[in-house]
Amino acid sequence: MAKRIGVAGGAGFIGSHLCESLVGEGNEVVCIDSLITGDRKNISLLEGKGCDFLEHDISKPVRIPGSISQVYNLASPASPIDYQEKPLETLMAGSFGVKNLLDLAREKNAKYLFASTSEVYGNPLEHPQKESYWGNVNPIGPRSCYDEAKRFGEAMCVSYSSVHKTDVKIARIFNTYGSRMRKNDGRVVPNFIDQALHKKPLTVYGKGDQTRSFCFVGDMVLGLSALMGSQERGPINLGNPKETTIQELAELIISLSKSPSKIVYKGLPIDDPERRLPDISLAKQKLGWGPKIGLEDGLLRTIKFFSAD
Ligand code: UDP
Repeated sequence: MAKRIGVAGGAGFIGSHLCESLVGEGNEVVCIDSLITGDRKNISLLEGKGCDFLEHDISKPVRIPGSISQVYNLASPASPIDYQEKPLETLMAGSFGVKNLLDLAREKNAKYLFASTSEVYGNPLEHPQKESYWGNVNPIGPRSCYDEAKRFGEAMCVSYSSVHKTDVKIARIFNTYGSRMRKNDGRVVPNFIDQALHKKPLTVYGKGDQTRSFCFVGDMVLGLSALMGSQERGPINLGNPKETTIQELAELIISLSKSPSKIVYKGLPIDDPERRLPDISLAKQKLGWGPKIGLEDGLLRTIKFFSAD
């Protein structure tokens, strides 16, 4: 049955893909975005066709007339350079923002999904990372505004669940890539693809032996809606359980984009996690979800998007 759904951060990278999928299923979407890192262009094809846009900063109370049955909260700067440039906005989004949207969900008697992050595990001492792992986060380091905001957001969600019985769901999203990432957002996939397409050297930070696990955005959106449709509170890891070194990623992007680019090595940012790999047994078991798009396939689609830009 068609629903009316709020998507905060809906003009961002993952948010806009989620809006597209929800509208495609016949739902009515209210996209809420402050546009500090999102871009209205990302939802321009949906506006007026099942998607309404509300420019609003969630750190201020959120008022939406009419009924809403689900609230997705994906609103936050998410790339390390963005959140380090906007640490206070990031902390406000993860604290007041999470609370204001929980209040909206409470008022509307709606389900609430919070987009948390693998960053809650910090530089993990357990590998792969299971949801039961408490993490290893530097509370005052350059990534702390994001990591601690998301950890606080999770605590706020479980507290609303116990005090107000709000139906909350917490997704821990691991590195995700695909179309509509900003080519200058500083994350590794857009950086490398942009550099490869412009025949510039790919900038590997450190020795390139640090690892990440990259999930294609289409798979991520399916995981988020599966969690919203489930009875689970989470937290549940959503990500691709294939671990890749940053060196391997650089070589793969050079080869898939048939680029003459070479690799250059730059300093490793402070507190850059050494390894990251989700254990997704819980998502498989509870949601019947797992990623379907492999890294090569997903990167080819992303390279196509960046080439057309
Ligand atoms: N990275 C890199 N070159 C770049 C951008 C990032 O080597 O041009 C590395 C970064 O140091 C990190 C990994 O790629 O180890 C993933 O970085 P990203 O910013 O995409 O996300 P993170 O997982 O660190 O939040």
